[in-house]
Amino acid sequence: MPTATLSSNSINSLASGNSDTIDTTASVYLRLRPEKIPCKYYSAESNVLKVHPIENATTANKDLTEKHFEFSQIFHIDATQLDVYNQSVHASIQNFESATFLTYGTSGSGKTYTMYGTDDDAGIIQRAIAHIFTMNKGKICPTPAAKIEKGNFIFICDNNMQSERATTAAFVRKDTRKKNEQRVQEICNEHGFEATASDWGYVFIWISFAEIYNENVYDLLKSNGATTATVNAKRKNLKIIANDGNAYIKDLTAVHVTSASDAYDVINAGLAQVNYASTNINANSSRSHCILILNVIHFSYPDCYSLKTYKFCDLAGSERLKKTENVGNRLKEAQRINTSLMVLGRCFDLMFQNQQSKSKEVIPFRESKLTMLLQRALTGHEKITTIVTMAPKVDFFDENLQVLTFASIAQQIVFKQPKPEPHNRRAARSTRFSLFMASADRRSQFDDSDYETLLAENAELEAENTRLLDENAQLIEAVRLVNVEIAKQEQQLRKKLVEEREQQLNTANEKWKKRMEYTENRLQAKVTNSNAKIIAFFYR
Ligand code: ADP
Ligand code: MG
Repeated sequence: MPTATLSSNSINSLASGNSDTIDTTASVYLRLRPEKIPCKYYSAESNVLKVHPIENATTANKDLTEKHFEFSQIFHIDATQLDVYNQSVHASIQNFESATFLTYGTSGSGKTYTMYGTDDDAGIIQRAIAHIFTMNKGKICPTPAAKIEKGNFIFICDNNMQSERATTAAFVRKDTRKKNEQRVQEICNEHGFEATASDWGYVFIWISFAEIYNENVYDLLKSNGATTATVNAKRKNLKIIANDGNAYIKDLTAVHVTSASDAYDVINAGLAQVNYASTNINANSSRSHCILILNVIHFSYPDCYSLKTYKFCDLAGSERLKKTENVGNRLKEAQRINTSLMVLGRCFDLMFQNQQSKSKEVIPFRESKLTMLLQRALTGHEKITTIVTMAPKVDFFDENLQVLTFASIAQQIVFKQPKPEPHNRRAARSTRFSLFMASADRRSQFDDSDYETLLAENAELEAENTRLLDENAQLIEAVRLVNVEIAKQEQQLRKKLVEEREQQLNTANEKWKKRMEYTENRLQAKVTNSNAKIIAFFYR
């Protein structure tokens, strides 16, 4: 019988033996979906959900006694989207911590509603986006001059910036701007978000959106929705690259956004693709995991940056697929569809078991796409928050017990989180022209109150310019010295060649002289000999 009896604090710091880590229990929230007829089998007291025995017990639950499941917090049927955001998401965004948010539950229990909300009532994603843009007001860089590629920070060269701008333009719509901006304003008023002071110079915000279906990873932003007819036939299965505990999806589109309104357009285009896939290629959106990734990069001259990543995962329905649906060829597919959820459950299970015993089992992160992608969060390097959604109905009694058991295991895991380190990292040295252009673009948006900031930035740019001029002068001098050295060596070589040639000529000359002498002597001897013969002839 599950006996989930842990603390109710959302992040409950425990004493840790290791001074480099902070032990924290997982944050697991329960959200109950409103139901017309209240169900007598469930009752909630503070942060504990009580499940009462059911009269017509099945084999699965025949020994049922009352079970208690404890959560970080329970959101009751009347809890608003604002409540859910404030209690479970707000702190991570406000404290500028990378974080992963999961919604877990059976189909129809409210996972997508919690993540994305409705037209009238924004979900946690829209709220988080409005929050991030408001916090960074005045620092959002309008130019896509820097991004994260293959897990690394890079500056974007001026040619590539054009194509990044074109990608953004394909998603941003004029006709939705007014509605989006109104929505952002309403959210900000509701929550009272405010700009926060920071020393960072610029902020770059990039959105990616992926779907894991049947253990294949698809890019939801590959086509902007304009050509949906061709999208799914050609959907490419992307690879997940795991590198030193960090994982990223290779070739996944990232779209640079400069306002919450633009971000909403990008997300809606991605959601349109999920819906398209679910109705047109026999897929079922309740069986796919949708993962929205927000990369927020803070940057300061000349090369300091900090990256925070927020992942929002709307998971597949946790119910078991009905046997009748899965015969013949579809059986294999159906088995793979829930692999990620099964592995996620096993990871949580083993992580909990490892904490209870001395023998440590290997956590099977690599056995599913979802857990590969979430490894950093699952190993405690990033905060992970699970919102379990549940329809408190008797029809789902068995499924709900499974969901609650999963939640109770997740809730008991103690993550050893590394202590927050100063998050400034150095970017690889590169051209700063793009950043200069970005700065110029941004200046055009400023008013007089930014004059001081501009002066400070100008001084920084001037210092940078002087340093680059010095570097340039040094390079010119180095090139000159190399040229002098080359000329010297060339001269020496020429001299040596001339000397060798002279020597060759002298030797040839010596030889020639000797031969001449020899020939002359022989001729002389011949002449003397002839003369002697002539004289002998006359005096005979
Ligand atoms: P799931 O994504 O878990 O399959 P949905 O989020 O699509 O489920 O929810 C199913 C239906 O229930 C939707 O019409 C949604 O608007 C509604 N719903 C879910 N949770 C709530 C809630 N807390 N308040 C109001 N309506 C809800
Ligand atoms: Mg859904």
